[in-house]
Amino acid sequence: MKKLSIVAMGLLVLILASCNQTTKKKESMGKTENPFMKVSTLPFQAPDFTKIKNSHFAPALEEGIKQQLAEIEQIADNPEEPTFENTLVALEKSGKLLTRTLNVFEMLSGANTNDTLQDLQEEIAPKLAGLQDAITLNDNLFNRIKTIYQKKNELDLDKESTRLLQYYYDEFTRAGANLPAEAKEKLKKLNEEDALLSAKFTNQLLSGTKAGALVVDNDAELKGLSESQIKQAAKNAADAGKEGKYLISLQNTTQQPLLQSLENRETRQKLFEASWARTEKEDKNDTRDVIQRLAEIRAEKAALLGFSNFAAWTLQDQMAKTPQAVESFLGKLIPPATANARKEAKDLQALIDRDKGGFKLQPYDWNMYAEQLRKERFDLDEDQIKPYFELFNVLENGVFYATSRLYGLSFERRTDIPIYNPDMRVYEVKDADGSELALFYCDYFQRDNKSGGAWMSNVVGQSKLLGTKPVVYNVCNFTKPAEGEPTLISYDDVTTMFHEFGHALHGIFADQTYPSLSGTNVARDFVELPSQFNEHWALYPDVFKNYAKHYKTGAPMPEELVSKIKKSVTFNQGYALTEILAASELDMEWHTIKAGTDINSADKFESEALAKNKLDIPQVPPRYRSSYFLHIWSNGYSAGYYAYLWAEMLDQDAFAWFEENGGLSFENGQRFRKLILSRGNTEDYNEMYFNFAGREPNINPMLKNRGIAVP
Ligand SMILES: [Zn+2]
Repeated sequence: MKKLSIVAMGLLVLILASCNQTTKKKESMGKTENPFMKVSTLPFQAPDFTKIKNSHFAPALEEGIKQQLAEIEQIADNPEEPTFENTLVALEKSGKLLTRTLNVFEMLSGANTNDTLQDLQEEIAPKLAGLQDAITLNDNLFNRIKTIYQKKNELDLDKESTRLLQYYYDEFTRAGANLPAEAKEKLKKLNEEDALLSAKFTNQLLSGTKAGALVVDNDAELKGLSESQIKQAAKNAADAGKEGKYLISLQNTTQQPLLQSLENRETRQKLFEASWARTEKEDKNDTRDVIQRLAEIRAEKAALLGFSNFAAWTLQDQMAKTPQAVESFLGKLIPPATANARKEAKDLQALIDRDKGGFKLQPYDWNMYAEQLRKERFDLDEDQIKPYFELFNVLENGVFYATSRLYGLSFERRTDIPIYNPDMRVYEVKDADGSELALFYCDYFQRDNKSGGAWMSNVVGQSKLLGTKPVVYNVCNFTKPAEGEPTLISYDDVTTMFHEFGHALHGIFADQTYPSLSGTNVARDFVELPSQFNEHWALYPDVFKNYAKHYKTGAPMPEELVSKIKKSVTFNQGYALTEILAASELDMEWHTIKAGTDINSADKFESEALAKNKLDIPQVPPRYRSSYFLHIWSNGYSAGYYAYLWAEMLDQDAFAWFEENGGLSFENGQRFRKLILSRGNTEDYNEMYFNFAGREPNINPMLKNRGIAVP
């Protein structure tokens, strides 16, 4: 993933301002020594971690907010006629201290946090969130932007500047800046209710998931689990005050990881049902009323802003643009995906019958029999594979190697650039002509003070206006080996490295004037194209043979193992795709209701939505059920869950283009860099893609890659 941080979500948040009463006193002390107060003099303006202390953040953020507020007021109240230069360029130049500080703050809060930073995060988050209103409610500022926007045709702006003007105008109008005062007030109330209910949903889901854990009385019910899994379950129970019992806690998704090992069918059924009903128990954690109201609020908001539904409003600035485009895309995937899932169900039923199971396949049986089938067809033994994937060898001879072949880049390790943890590495990235391009940091090992998952972000954003070059970083959570041991990683981890480095390239190749449009500041349904596309090179023969070598002997990976890796990619993909499609359709159905629609039952709404889209296959439930679908109710993916699949269509289609045009080559790489990776958000995404591929993206390569028959 790419980290969706405050910083990455665009400048709007950053150019907002508010006053802080509580920590003002701190400002006066040590102002001259605070490293954030001046631009770093290190190469690429890299942050100086040898000087940055916890105590520097609060005063720098305070001062940054104060400075930005003053800048915004100055722009909004400027007595001169509004011009592109004195309004939009001025906005882009504002908030330098706040951006500089927030970028480092975000970097450390995610990957190297501590109590001070965590407290400060809580303190600063509501201020930054409340800021959104503070700026969009500044009528003077919007009036200036509107005046410029209305004469845009007379201004003779270059392409990127035209895009910037459009971007600001859209951001303001989407937030309701054009509405009459009364409607603005109504919108504000709806926004507040939405925020309140989203937070309530998150809390209910958290407690519902915790309370929904499965408790069993004896370990016989857990047959099939490993000794350490059973120990963990006993410990979980003891921690929850249920000494002597066993507790299996629930994961976010409908399917639970342990379902693949639990041999006792009754336990499987109980665990599955615990997951499915976690927030539908008619207790205080029941979310159904909340989500019904959230859907209604969002429909009302859209109507107020002049749209037929919430999805229509929210999709405007995405590549898909309209709910119709999303529906048509999902609609094309449903028949082949479900046909494949039905075929897989038959294979699993055959396995059950062969074992004389005497029952009909249910969703809680799926993972167990799929795992059995996978083992029969091609057992991928991680311990056999890992010795061929030594971490820094994969990085330098795999990830970097592919990059040098495609784009001509070279990488030079820099040990003079300060880091915040000794396990990190920093590389200077040089372009094909030897000129300096960017700095790349990697922080790969799991630590207690690091968030889970993997992500990329910028600690210095690229902008010609500000004279900054990109400083980007990748963070992962690989297990650190014992002292002196090599770091051997799984094939999944290898893929993660290529993925995150794809995001990094999107940042490294950024070539924009304006920070708001630079690099990875792109639509949600476009941002995963560079990363997922880059994953393809991991298994590409020329690249693979350059890095997949035994860490002791240097021998290449045996062909038999390589072919197992390749086959495992297409296994069980009918199920995998169908469960995501079902969740995507639920998201779209909830967010395309018209204002005033009375939903009297969330469950009925859900089952009708699935039936309507021909996704009502009992053995393949949605990946998330409406009542516990965190992405769409409070995580910023409302009417946006489809984006994962959309980006997959793009990356597969782009890779197919490479294959049709000679595969891995500098020429093809340059084209991709020039037309996609270096463009940031300076063009319509559809035009950008069309210019690269010479055609619209198509779902066939995506289906083919998942091993699903193309209709
Ligand atoms: Zn990503």
